[in-house]
Amino acid sequence: MQDLLNKYIFTPGPVRMYEETLQLGSVQTPYFRNEEFSEVILECEQDLLQLLNAPKASRVVFLTASGTAGMEATVQNLLNKNDKTIVINGGGFGQRFVELCKLHNIKHLNHKLTGDDLSNTTPLNNYSSATTLLINAHETSIGLLYNMKSVGKFCKKNNILNIVDAISLFVTDELDMQKQNIDALIISSHKGLALPPGLAMVVLSPKAIQKINPPNFMYFDFNRYINNGKRGQTPFTPAVTILLQLQARLKQIKKDGILFHIDKAKNIADYFRKQICILPIKEYSHSMPNAMTTLAPTDGRSAYDIVRDLDQKFNIIVAPNGGDLRNIIFRVSHMGNMDRDYINVLINALYQYYGVERKLP
Ligand SMILES: *Cc1c(COP(=O)(O)O)cnc(C)c1O
Repeated sequence: MQDLLNKYIFTPGPVRMYEETLQLGSVQTPYFRNEEFSEVILECEQDLLQLLNAPKASRVVFLTASGTAGMEATVQNLLNKNDKTIVINGGGFGQRFVELCKLHNIKHLNHKLTGDDLSNTTPLNNYSSATTLLINAHETSIGLLYNMKSVGKFCKKNNILNIVDAISLFVTDELDMQKQNIDALIISSHKGLALPPGLAMVVLSPKAIQKINPPNFMYFDFNRYINNGKRGQTPFTPAVTILLQLQARLKQIKKDGILFHIDKAKNIADYFRKQICILPIKEYSHSMPNAMTTLAPTDGRSAYDIVRDLDQKFNIIVAPNGGDLRNIIFRVSHMGNMDRDYINVLINALYQYYGVERKLP
């Protein structure tokens, strides 16, 4: 057990948490069907809408589930058999949207990307008759950040409902529903927000709310959440403790200003990338978010071996890849409670691992 808990953690979920979050995690779970708890949910909703610059009259659905449930519930509620959906598929999470469309019988165009950052949306023009678009703002499987502004422009021009999984983008990178023309946005608790896993949030603009399908399921029916949410409640038992942690986190982020957190993540990411640039590991993605750095060994070593060695020799957890990329890349998250001291543990370990002396400036 101690072995599992006492590690330096650099994974894209879970991420290193803040002291206040940890303390709130140790309290007795309070009863929640009362006005005091309603205030918690109402405050979380208002703060999220403000931080995301959501269009007026947008609403937040709080699901007790991991991020993928947010993706699936969104597909179930917002898409139907009359839709033609573009799926931007740049890796594992894009592929997940493709699979969800298949499972729920949604007509979809699988737009497979190979190293395209989408700043040029010309290829998308073939799909201008589509009704909806599904995209992961940051394709976390390879650390690829898309140009959300140009995607939003394309959707607006062609009257396409823009549905964005921003799970691994919120708090560390710019996200603005109005500026980026986002109609529905999916986030979750255990990435940039640095809370435990268990809470998925779907932010719905009025346009998205209008498109909610008549229900043929219970737990994920968005209308139930929207109606209950008016009085600050959820239809079923919510992740009570995580919502308390969320309330505190959002309060702190609002106090600091979201730009402070975006800047902080950028600083850490830049510092890390600069410090390791002389080691035989190179940046894999040409369009990286602040949230994460993806690295490919250049000396013939297996990426998977590096991940294993960092754990066994240095007690450090970075994220391995699966499938074809298992030996090619590994990932280092910059989300959550990161500072120079903490990231230096990883940087020093990498220098030691490669037998290179680290010269501090
Ligand atoms: C982490 C993540 C998810 C959700 O994964 P879960 O394991 O269900 O929490 C979805 N999309 C992206 C882009 C992610 O990074």
